[in-house]
Formats: sequence, structure tokens, C-alpha cells
Amino acid sequence: MKHLLISTLLLLLIACSSPAPQQEAVLLSTPTQVATVTTPPTRTSTPTTTPAPQPTATVTPTATVTATPTPDPLAVYAADMRPAFVDDIAAHANLPRYALQMQVDPAAGLLAGRVQITFPNTTGTPLPDVALRLYPNFARDLLGKSGGIWMEITDSSIDGQPVTASYLAQDTAILLPLPDPLQPGETTHLNVGFRAAMTPWSDGTWPLPSYYPMLAVHDPANETWRLDVTEFPDRVFSESALYTAEITVPAHLTVVTSGQITDTQAWDTGYTTYYASTGPVRQFALTVGDFAVAETSAADVQVRVYQARANGYDIQTIAQVAADALSVFAQRFGAYPYRELDLHLLPYTFDGGDEYPGLIFVYTDGIDAGARYVTAHEVAHQWWFALVGNDIYREPWLDEAFAQYSGIIYAEEHAGSVVAEADWEREVLQRYRGALADGDLPVGWAISDYPNFNVYYRTVYGKGAVFLRTLRTVVGDEAFFAALQSYYQSHRYGVATTRDVQHAFETASGQDLDSLFGEWGVRQGS
Ligand SMILES: [Zn+2]
Repeated sequence: MKHLLISTLLLLLIACSSPAPQQEAVLLSTPTQVATVTTPPTRTSTPTTTPAPQPTATVTPTATVTATPTPDPLAVYAADMRPAFVDDIAAHANLPRYALQMQVDPAAGLLAGRVQITFPNTTGTPLPDVALRLYPNFARDLLGKSGGIWMEITDSSIDGQPVTASYLAQDTAILLPLPDPLQPGETTHLNVGFRAAMTPWSDGTWPLPSYYPMLAVHDPANETWRLDVTEFPDRVFSESALYTAEITVPAHLTVVTSGQITDTQAWDTGYTTYYASTGPVRQFALTVGDFAVAETSAADVQVRVYQARANGYDIQTIAQVAADALSVFAQRFGAYPYRELDLHLLPYTFDGGDEYPGLIFVYTDGIDAGARYVTAHEVAHQWWFALVGNDIYREPWLDEAFAQYSGIIYAEEHAGSVVAEADWEREVLQRYRGALADGDLPVGWAISDYPNFNVYYRTVYGKGAVFLRTLRTVVGDEAFFAALQSYYQSHRYGVATTRDVQHAFETASGQDLDSLFGEWGVRQGS
């Protein structure tokens, strides 16, 4: 997440109000009210003039797992990978595998879906249950986005046996009891039907990130599932998995997803099904709309920027910024392994963004220096957050300070020193001065340790980026980038910690950095 060109006052105003454009058409309903909502469309076998999506078996519990069965169960995921990284699939074959099916019905404001998850117990401890997060049930965030919608479970089974899901954590999670504890090394199969309200953005598009029940992260220290809830803008803490998806939408709309669209099927009923797959990714995001698209590439990575046709922003410029940032980060941090990166540009009252693997949402009030910087920041999150994961609740600096400083690295290499210094002043130093006024709090705190979002924002984004530049000065450019390369290579697709960062920099530089990390309050999270 990144927000910029916002004065502290404006930020406070935003944090205290809820101006989200998508509120206008929101279906304000809670899971307990769902019985009053129109029943989701059901399958029929004949063409119809009704708007109900109906051409596929996508919500029946017995639906097949992949669109194109193949003798090699891993082959479908390779479509997302650049040739040099196809082997990453086999190397991570023990990741959970999701098969998603969704019917998107914008006219009714409803999404009906099913998720089948092949879940290997790699926690090292017997599991009596499995927790899934329902991220759409999070409350509206402090910046006025998300919230006001609901997701509910329609049925659930484990290894073919129906089980009763219990809602937890303010309905942001369900717990599925296992018939017998799942032993380490054993695999189980979850099958969960769900439906959810959808709300359009102000431009009539339908961003749908995290719109399915998603495995929670197991906390080995406490032998519990992590069910954190926050009103801060970022809320998804997840581990990498392999995905296939079948998404059915009215034919006049286009689906853009994490990973690759591998096939489409137009039905004679006015609907189209998109088939998608991913390599190892931290979650699966999609967006739906009637889009204009701009396209470019960075080496053999396709970069596409989408917007509602009527918006008219210069998305070709954003595509080029994203491609240039991708090239800079690939060279500085390590190669981007996927074949594609998509961005969806959305009109908003200020510049900001939300990062998802392979699909970035950029919010903007115009194509200017702020939009350029925020695009680079969000592209950097593909490395810091998506590929190298972190506990965003307990160690948020690991993705946000890194992305913030990466935006400066992009500017240095692509926009020249004058622009880079202007970005440094506007995006970092202004926040850093605010962080000092806030009491010069530690960079490495958990989000709940900060007294409010603004203090968190100024400290982690502003002071955190200053810490990284200080670290670069102390160890020198060669060791700095060698450390980032090593850190990336060691933790790609995994979840890294502050300790891993310190280790990478100490190894690359040969220096004991304990006191420097300590001075800046960069300590292993609680
Ligand atoms: Zn960010």
C-alpha cells in the first residue's frame, strides 16, 4: 500500500471519513442478512435471456479441479512462469493448491464461487482444524476503501465429508474442524462454496482482490491460526500457493487476474468463462470491467495497464513506468519469475495503490510525478510482499519501507538525480520529519504498536526508507545490493523476517550491524 501527495491534514481527513466512491452502490448487508439477498444464479442447460450466469458447472461441489486435465498435474501452473523459472513449480510442489470457480453477476451485485484446496500439512504439528480468511468481511479501512460488503459460506466439506464451518474474528475467518487431526506430512482436501456481495468502483469496474476463502497462516509458536483484524489498509497475510481459476462473467466484460489467462470459452448464453493459472503466488486477485488497455514489455515480461474505457488517463505512460521499474528491480534485486504483470488504474481523490501478485491496483487523481512514484512503489511490492513475503501485522516495515525506498532506487536509475532528489524530499523526508515529531518511534514495530495510522505511516514509510538509505551508506552500494539479491533469492515464495534481513546485510558487508539496527528500532517482531 502506498499513499502520497497527501498532507498530514488531508490524510487525517481521509482517515476520519469514508469517502469511497464504491460506497454508492454498495450492498450493505451482513452475513446474517444474507437470506434476504437474491439467491445466486443456478445452472440451467438452455440459453436464456435472463442475466443469470449459467453456462458452467462452476458452483457444483463435484466440479473438476482444472479446466484442462493433464497427465502432469503441475503443468497447468507452468503457464505463468518465464522459461527460466518453470522449475520453480516442481521445487514448490508441496505448496497448497487452489482450484477456484467464480460466477460474477454484476447486475445482481453478487459473486458465487467454490474453492477446492489441496492442503498439505507442512506446519510440523498435528492440526485439529483449518482456518480460512474471508477478507471481504473486513471493515472499511481507514482510507475509506473496502468494507461494506459481505462474504458467506454456503457449504463446506473435507475429503468429501460435510463439515460445519464456524465464523471467527468478526466474521473475517471460518474454522473447519478436521474429522481426525491432520498429521505433519498428510494432505487433506477442502471444498467450500461461498458467495459475496460485489460493489463497483466509481468508474463501473469491479476490483475483486482476495475474493475467496483463503488459508490463514498457522503460527507454529502458539499452535494457532493467525486471525488478525485491522482497520489499516493492508490486511492480507498469506503464504504462497498454486492456483487455477475459472471465472464466468457477462460477455461484454473482461477479466484480468494474477497469473495468466490460459483460455476463454464464450457461451451462447451471453457469458464468457476465463481460465487462469498461476505459479507460486501469495494470493489470487482479479478485476472485471469494460477496459481499455495499454501494453508494453520488460524483456519477455508482458506489462499491461487497464482502465475503464471512459477514464481516458494516459495509461501508456503508466505501462512504461511499470516496465522500467520492473527492469530496474530485476537487475537490482533479482529476476521477476512470471510472464506478466498487470495494473488496473482507478480514479481516486489521491494517489495510492494496493499490491497483489501479478495484479496491481493504482489509484490516481492524474498522471503526474505522484502517479509515477506510486506505480514504482507498487511494482516493488512484487519483490517485497508478493515474492518475499512478510508478516504484515508484526513486521510491516519489511514490505513498506522496502517498497518506499525501492521507488527512490527506480527514480535514481530511470529519472535522474534531480527527480530522485525531489521524490526523496516529497515521498520520504516529509514523512520522516513527521515521524521525528511523532516521537521518533522504532521502525520495526508491529502495526498495533503505533498509536494510530498516521504515526505508523510516517514512521514505517518515511523513517523506514531513511533507515534503508543509511544502511546503504554504511555498507556501500556493492554490499547493499548484494544483500538484497541474497535476501530475495533465499526467501522467494517464502516468508522472511527482520532477522533474515540483518543476516543478509551482515553477510554481504562483513559488518556487525546489530547496533545500527537497534538504533533505528529495527528488531525482530514480537
Ligand atoms: Zn506499499
